[in-house]
Parts: sequence; structure tokens; C-alpha cells
Amino acid sequence: MEEMIDLEGLTEEEKTLILSVIKRDEELRKEQDTRASQLRSEIHNLRLQSVIRDGDDLSKICARCHKPFGFFFNTGDICSQCKFRVCGVCRESLLTGKWLCTLCYKQVQLKGLTGEWIQDNMNNEKQRLSQSGADLVKASLKHSLSNADL
Ligand SMILES: [Zn+2]
Ligand SMILES: [Zn+2]
Repeated sequence: MEEMIDLEGLTEEEKTLILSVIKRDEELRKEQDTRASQLRSEIHNLRLQSVIRDGDDLSKICARCHKPFGFFFNTGDICSQCKFRVCGVCRESLLTGKWLCTLCYKQVQLKGLTGEWIQDNMNNEKQRLSQSGADLVKASLKHSLSNADL
């Protein structure tokens, strides 16, 4: 038998409320996971697409979509993050008025979503702890609710 948290002091209503909060939290987490894995595959595809082949001159073609730059129009600009020259299509505007190439932009998005830029193990540890805490409360609640139903 798993260890349970003592939730005897709670009313059924409170228990149901807590369960719904935990459920929403889970759904949110799932949504984030879905978005994160979507972003990861987009980044993967962009990287594949960006692979430089023999004879490619990155001063003449977009580093992302490999379309050739024009002489006067669409001559490309340097992405402030990766320093590659990209065309006007392969850019995403930031709130700051700056822009990043599509690859850098998606990487920033992914980092914001998953907190992957935090290399700090302490933070990962904390996250794991709070997650198992929620699981424990949920298990305890389900246990106590199903008992009440009997
Ligand atoms: Zn491009
Ligand atoms: Zn870039």
C-alpha cells in the first residue's frame, strides 16, 4: 500500500475542487509537452533544411530555406543570435522590435516552454519533487473519494 497524505480534514467538496485543480494542471502540462515536442520536431526539420551542402555560399543563399538572395531586394539580413544571413520569410519578429531567424526563434520558444536553458540540477530536482507531491495528493484524494462512494 502506497503512503497516503492525511486528507481527513477536507470536505468532499474541497477534495473534488483540489482534484479538478490538479487535473487542470496535468492538462496544462500535457499541452505544454505536446507543444514542446511539436517545436522539437520543427527545430529538427529546420536544422535538416539548413544543412549546408557542397558549393553552398551562405552569403548568396538564405541559411534557413536556401533560397538565393536578390541583388537589390531580399538581400537578407544577419540573425542576431546565430549570425547567419536569412531571407525575409525566415524571420520571426520579437516583442522588442528585433527579429530572429525561424530556427533561433523556435529554440527560444522551446526554452521558454520547457525551461531547458536551466542547466541547474537543483531546479530539476525541485520540479520533480513538486510533481510527485501532486501525484501523492491525487492518489490520496482518489483513495479517500472512492472510499466515500462505497
Ligand atoms: Zn529563407
Ligand atoms: Zn538565427
